[in-house]
Amino acid sequence: MTAAPSPTPTPKTGHVPERTCVACRRRRAQGEFLRLSRDADGRWREQEGPRTGRGAYVCADSPACWAEKRLRRAFGAQAPVVSQTLLNRSTDLPRA
Ligand SMILES: [Zn+2]
Repeated sequence: MTAAPSPTPTPKTGHVPERTCVACRRRRAQGEFLRLSRDADGRWREQEGPRTGRGAYVCADSPACWAEKRLRRAFGAQAPVVSQTLLNRSTDLPRA
């Protein structure tokens, strides 16, 4: 009457939500991106949290994707601001 131990469920691979970087058009797992979204004023800003919806994704680990000229296609006139936000982010990291 011993129940067999249930096997450890193996996570299914192949169903990771993918997003496309607006700068380099690379497709990657969602967790590898920084997400930006538009606020009520129509300004793009970095978004934290799980909320989905209208947003743009930029590679989190690729400073080349934060360059203003690569962001212009997605963010237009706000590209300089978005670029600066992303660049500042990388220097904000606390040093160990
Ligand atoms: Zn990219």
